[in-house]
Amino acid sequence: MSVSFSDVIELDRVQPTFAMPFMHRVINGKILVTNDLGDYAFLELEEFTRFIQGELTPGEPLYERLAERNFIAEKVDVAAQARRFARKKGFLAYGPTLHAFVLTERCNHGCQYCHSSVVGMGRMDTDMPISTAEKAVDMAFQTTAPWFTIEFQGGEPTANWDTLSHVVKYGQEKNKLAGKELSFALVTNFSLMTDERLDFLIKNKVQICCSLDGPEDLHNKIRIYKSGNSYEITTGWIAKVNRRYEELGLDTSLYRVEALPTITKDSLHRYEEIVDTYIRHGCRAIFLRKLDPFGFAASTYKKLGYTMDDYIEFYRKAVDYILELNKQGVEVMERHAAIMLNKIMADEEPNYLDLRTPGGAVIGQVGYHPDGSVYSSDEGRFVAAMGDEIFKIGNVHEASYTDLFTQDTVKALLLASTNQSQPGCDSCTYKPYCGLQPEYNYKTQGSIQGRMADSTWCKKHKTIFDYLMEKLERADPEEMEIFRRWTTNRRQDHFVQE
Ligand code: SF4
Repeated sequence: MSVSFSDVIELDRVQPTFAMPFMHRVINGKILVTNDLGDYAFLELEEFTRFIQGELTPGEPLYERLAERNFIAEKVDVAAQARRFARKKGFLAYGPTLHAFVLTERCNHGCQYCHSSVVGMGRMDTDMPISTAEKAVDMAFQTTAPWFTIEFQGGEPTANWDTLSHVVKYGQEKNKLAGKELSFALVTNFSLMTDERLDFLIKNKVQICCSLDGPEDLHNKIRIYKSGNSYEITTGWIAKVNRRYEELGLDTSLYRVEALPTITKDSLHRYEEIVDTYIRHGCRAIFLRKLDPFGFAASTYKKLGYTMDDYIEFYRKAVDYILELNKQGVEVMERHAAIMLNKIMADEEPNYLDLRTPGGAVIGQVGYHPDGSVYSSDEGRFVAAMGDEIFKIGNVHEASYTDLFTQDTVKALLLASTNQSQPGCDSCTYKPYCGLQPEYNYKTQGSIQGRMADSTWCKKHKTIFDYLMEKLERADPEEMEIFRRWTTNRRQDHFVQE
């Protein structure tokens, strides 16, 4: 339904002081209203008209429903809502919580979509030396956050095993004094994994993540590995790691290898097989990540890429399929949806760095290159790999923590990733739940500010929000129960260092 508000609303009857400031959008023929606190409600057109004309009276169900959701100005408990807002923006009190260490640029895979400036296995000169790694750990420990994660990335980070294992031991030692909630995560293709290395990772509580692009032919076509079958290696180790978690007595519904697919052109019509592959290998969550615009030659993008409309169609079908499986008793969630639903339904801020405002660049995450250079994020590093150092904020060998985190680049990134100051976002219905990534804007639109009117970032998020809101408006009891499961969060305390 398209609604022409000028036909149904008499402007001279609108009572601007009756309602709290709100945003609105038509979903399933109803008017979805949201406010900056993160509340939402669906209204019939007639209800919406009465609401903005201030015709609702205390005691009537619509008044009470909207008052409960902070849409009626006179009923808002300002102190309580300020506390709620501060809780959700709690991340602003802290420095970055994700510190990505690129331990090497070497890799033995030739994945077609790889963003990193990967080199051959002989290029040991691209490894992060232990001396640089220690300086990066020292820098990470200066974060003002009480908890943080050091994530090992590459290239293939296990190719520089000496530095990886040293960072774990060095970090644990430092933490005896610092007493932070420290955790380690490893993103690996498993090709260099051995039982001895796995013992070390399990013993030292290093969380393990990997890529799994779907069924064997699809995975191996994209993730090219000349020395073996990447799919068999990956799924074999997933099973082995999951068994080790089980042997430790960990809750296997919570502790599993985290696998991620990247969606390429060949994936689009194979959503059922991709989801089935994840379930077959014991995964409970799947993050249907769109191919990023970073790091490709135009010819590669032509081969692997697709339009945002293609992705959105894929996404809707895939999540519908995931919901059907859940209705049949299979517990599997889609992570993008779960993150958004946590914000909408559970009133939580999951601190997913791409979908918070201000965004995660620098104040949520930083990336450390093998030579000690520090970047605003993974994506900032990918832009650098393409020859543009705009997102470099310094080097651990030269800069102090204050130098890195208080410079003009950081301030510019903060402003550019605040959706209250972004034209388009400032009045968007999804502003309370959405976020921006200046690196994406820069890569796709040539400016860290971006233009949301023709941004594919915006289109993707707006459409997924629409999809979820359509579900919430229909409120199918089975789907609502599934969504409630997806928004029940449990901490993985096992991975926090003692
Ligand atoms: S990026 Fe798009 S969907 Fe997100 S808040 Fe901005 S305008 Fe809305």
